Amino acid sequence: MAINKDAPPVDINKRRAINGADADVIQLYPMRHKWAWEYYNAANSNHWLPTEISMQLDIEQWRSNTVLTDEERHAFETVLGFFTTADSIAANNIVVATYRHITSPEIRMYLLRQAYEEAIHTHAYQYIVQSLGMDESKIFNMYRKRDAIYNKASFILDFNDGIFDPTFKTGTFENDQKFLENLCVFSLILEGIFFYSSFAVMFGFQRQHKLTGAAEQIQYIMRDESMHLNFGCQLIHTIREEQPELWTAEFQEKIIGYVKEAARLEYTYAQEVFPNGIFGMNAEGFRQYIEHIADRRLERVGLPAQFHVENPFPWMSEAIDLPKEKNFFETRVTEYKVGGALDW
Ligand code: FE
Repeated sequence: MAINKDAPPVDINKRRAINGADADVIQLYPMRHKWAWEYYNAANSNHWLPTEISMQLDIEQWRSNTVLTDEERHAFETVLGFFTTADSIAANNIVVATYRHITSPEIRMYLLRQAYEEAIHTHAYQYIVQSLGMDESKIFNMYRKRDAIYNKASFILDFNDGIFDPTFKTGTFENDQKFLENLCVFSLILEGIFFYSSFAVMFGFQRQHKLTGAAEQIQYIMRDESMHLNFGCQLIHTIREEQPELWTAEFQEKIIGYVKEAARLEYTYAQEVFPNGIFGMNAEGFRQYIEHIADRRLERVGLPAQFHVENPFPWMSEAIDLPKEKNFFETRVTEYKVGGALDW
């Protein structure tokens, strides 16, 4: 890049979440998507590391023959089997697909933070597996071996087709829709649905005062994930405001169809992993819970609820309430507004 001393200042009105490379992807200021900067700061104030949480009690309970039932051990291993690879899939999507096509430096700042958080989550699972002396190769390889986990991972990975291609570019109607579809699937489904029956199981352990160190790790992860979901919804909202033509009726139908399919996959997973139920949560409870959160995810992006069921696990919304920091779980997309024409 040659120096150009007469270059005009960056035109903030040309800054876009995608397709805005004309407005310079390197200069953080002038900032247009201020909401993304707020997310970046909120995420930093929630910083945590897995090694800060004591696993001592968990280690004793895991070694003891009297604390955990065989079914509980099996459930714990299986949810870790899902978790250990899910956050790597999320991280890869941010780094290889999302970041490259985002043209707002302030949105990119949060994505850098989010990618790091996905790494922290994978670290947390590794730390749990290592602390308890579990079989790493069994746990980390489970997504290839268990149908219920494989089917969820494979559903998500299909949406990387095309977008991971180094020649993929936004800027056409078709590709912009494909990119938006990837965002919807990763935010609403991977971050918003596929973690939640496993979260519920982990909080089931916590409520029984079992494996509470692992459950606390998951509680921090769930707080991060709820922020990832909210950020993703806001990013979708921003792209829709900037390119309303992408959100066609046909596109909306497609997203609703994916969410319904994801709810089915998540329910099948819960049913296969916990055939006899666990901690008072049975197959019917999981189905209702998953359908309940699937409806909430649809509503977050302005799509109609499909299932209309009550939340059978109301304690799950309390589980996210870590007292010390700001909780984004119930924050609504509409609180954030994209700036109009700004002067710089
Ligand atoms: Fe995430």
